Amino acid sequence: MATVKDIISLMHDPSDEDKKLLEQAFTFAEKAHSGHKRYSGEPYFDTHVVSVAKTLATFGMGAKTIAAGLLHDTIEDTETTDTAIQEAFGDEILFLVQGVTKLGKIRYRGLERHTESLMKLFVATSQDIRVLIVKLADRLHNIQTLEHVPKEKQARIALETLEIYAPIADRLGMGALKRDLEDGAFPFAYPEEYEKVKELLKEKSKENEKQLEKVTKTLKKELAKNGITDIRLTHRIKGVYSLYRKLERKERDMSKIYDVAALRIIVSSVAECYQVLGIIHGMWRPLPGKIKDYIALPKPNGYQSIHTTVLTSEGVTEIQIRTRDMHRNAQYGIASHISYKEQSYGKRGSMGSNLQWLRQLLPHPFRLRTLTPEARPREYSTTEIPGWIREVARAHENTSGTEEYLASLKGDFFEHRIFIFTPNGDVIDLPVGSTPIDFAYAIHSDIGDHASGARINNKYSSLDTVLKNGDIVEVETRDSNKPSHKWLEFAKTTMARRHIRAALEREQT
Ligand code: MN
Repeated sequence: MATVKDIISLMHDPSDEDKKLLEQAFTFAEKAHSGHKRYSGEPYFDTHVVSVAKTLATFGMGAKTIAAGLLHDTIEDTETTDTAIQEAFGDEILFLVQGVTKLGKIRYRGLERHTESLMKLFVATSQDIRVLIVKLADRLHNIQTLEHVPKEKQARIALETLEIYAPIADRLGMGALKRDLEDGAFPFAYPEEYEKVKELLKEKSKENEKQLEKVTKTLKKELAKNGITDIRLTHRIKGVYSLYRKLERKERDMSKIYDVAALRIIVSSVAECYQVLGIIHGMWRPLPGKIKDYIALPKPNGYQSIHTTVLTSEGVTEIQIRTRDMHRNAQYGIASHISYKEQSYGKRGSMGSNLQWLRQLLPHPFRLRTLTPEARPREYSTTEIPGWIREVARAHENTSGTEEYLASLKGDFFEHRIFIFTPNGDVIDLPVGSTPIDFAYAIHSDIGDHASGARINNKYSSLDTVLKNGDIVEVETRDSNKPSHKWLEFAKTTMARRHIRAALEREQT
């Protein structure tokens, strides 16, 4: 039987208040889930709920987020009401639990073109990055126990994990979580490919391990000669899904992939990183074009390290150099920033405003609704905001050199968008102020051109009705119907307006 101590022991320096909160949430959730079982037949609370809470503690999250993790399935799966949670734990924890519950209702339908919208919907719906992190921890345990889930559900959950959850973990810089989600989902999403790549990885990593052991020995000696002894040398084997993706990019040619296994060196300071790089390049010739200084130029998700690939007597070897802080950051990403904030602000008693800089990243209609007056926007000093977050937040005005990642976050992501559902649950994202006409054209130009009416949330509505976030819209068409000049008055998207004008011109000639 799990106890609350198992969770508390994973936390950094919890206060008495933190412990009390967790004990209360533990007892509350245990009672709510009593008799409730997993597909595996195991008790729901002891396996699933406790595992989610432990994962959050491992990420370094604060007591409120872990408490929300303990309570995350109570509203959805038990008799527990919102009011009961609010009375026992207050508004902030209720808000987190409600957010996780809402996210649980969004379903991935395997439509390529909607993946990006769905990711945005996730981020927008969660409103607070802590909601997203609880949901990711929840998904991690679900994917690790996927073999017990009925077959017909497995593939959908696995694909959803690969298309939505893992990319979100990646954008949040949570490398360890991203990898665990991917490698857990891969066998259920693409069983044949998984078997093949798993074999390849096994062969190759065995071969590489031996090579790395020899290189490690030689390097350790050389570093010691230079007075560098406070280091950790480890091997990291590439995740099986990540290898699969890379193989797809390299025409499935295994000989083009040098980083199946890499040597990782963790040192105490940035200066030492460069010193170690110098020593390595003095010993072995680096491969041109393979030196990447992510310390001076971090990846947009915050990742920092120096990567180099060198030619040793044992063959080609990738080496990664980083400090302990960078290592922690590479594993837990944004979670390490939040937990720090949650603690430091909590002690000063102004909880709630600490995540302001993150809320600023969310689309406006979602952002301000939840803020209490004292948490209204204020200027944040630049030292409070991690650099990469600032960079992302500025992305819409700044177009210089931040590559693909930012390109994908730019534009729509931070603008005023609403998310509209088809009756099947597919998501279409549209600008604020859009009408059923915009929605119709977003689905298909034929549907737009012949739209005759709309049902919004099952109610007949006129085509000029302004849609609200979360509306379910069904467009009715009639073959005889045609676009009119009037439509231009309420069509918001460029696409709809272009089609309407084209149709009107066709009419005239
Ligand atoms: Mn759950």
